Amino acid sequence: MALEGIREKLSREKVGAFLVSKLVNVRYLSGFTGSSAFILISPQDLFFVTDPRYGEQASSQIPPSFDLVVLKPGERLSSFIKGKGWSSVAVEDALTLAQYNSLKEGLEGMELVIWKGVVEAARKIKWPWELERIREAVALAQEAFSRLKERMHPGVVEKDFALELEFFMRRRGAEGVAFPFIVASGSRSALPHGEASSKTIDDGDLVVLDFGVRWRGYHSDMTRTLKFGEWQGWERDIYRVVLDAQRAALEAIRPGVEAKEVDAVARRIVEEAGYGEFFGHGLGHGVGLEIHEAPTLSPTSQDVLEEGMVFTVEPGVYLPGKGGVRIEDMVYLGSGGPEVLTSLPKEVEG
Ligand code: ZN
Ligand code: ZN
Repeated sequence: MALEGIREKLSREKVGAFLVSKLVNVRYLSGFTGSSAFILISPQDLFFVTDPRYGEQASSQIPPSFDLVVLKPGERLSSFIKGKGWSSVAVEDALTLAQYNSLKEGLEGMELVIWKGVVEAARKIKWPWELERIREAVALAQEAFSRLKERMHPGVVEKDFALELEFFMRRRGAEGVAFPFIVASGSRSALPHGEASSKTIDDGDLVVLDFGVRWRGYHSDMTRTLKFGEWQGWERDIYRVVLDAQRAALEAIRPGVEAKEVDAVARRIVEEAGYGEFFGHGLGHGVGLEIHEAPTLSPTSQDVLEEGMVFTVEPGVYLPGKGGVRIEDMVYLGSGGPEVLTSLPKEVEG
């Protein structure tokens, strides 16, 4: 468990306590969903610190293993930490410079050690209950798309379709959208991050649709490229290349393989087809409490794929001024190999 690993690290490095301040990490460790809280872990203690607005919510959400500390109005976290008498405290590298400076000032005389991605490293490997929530997030996004797909056709404004998807998802209990949806039609499909605009979808357009939900804290993320009207040769060509690259990458996934190697498998296929310079982003990213988290699948990634990880595989080819194609699925790397969590059709129709 993450907590034991943190305590071992504290003892090994002779640091008094670890201050967890990044909210998704607080949520991961405690289940707390509010917007102001800290966790302090020492070899003996486990404090959950919040302010009076969240005292009641915290006491109903966090496990009894935490000592709940509700700061008084105006009381600073640093004075609570100081009172514990530790000579050093580790903080997360996700702190802003302003937060760091304020802590440094408040904790004068105490050594501040910066720990990089400690909770994030634990979060890479999903617990069964996390995988369950991710599956639910995938199912809801897919249901929304399948139900509303018929309403996307020439004459519809990109933004309107994005709104319909969002409305469906929120009605079904989603906490929100996973990110502003990408609905990029016609030449806009060449923009890898073409957020839904006021453009009307035209007959003949390729449409890149990238969407997902946030469900009980967890995200889903998927992309399909649709085509309205008659396929042109170059469109069919890049669609086929992207699909081949994705299939080959999915087949290359197994525990112990370097993430950059899986990226390379897909990239090689795109390059050999002559479109290498038009695949300008990494192959994929981890998904969980954050929409983009570890591991990273890219040419420079240092990650090794392990059992228990959930990540996307999303090659794309974008021809400036013409159009683009991206196909994105989510994968869970289980004991039996990769399992593709997303199941929307991706064969070229027509
Ligand atoms: Zn996406
Ligand atoms: Zn993605």
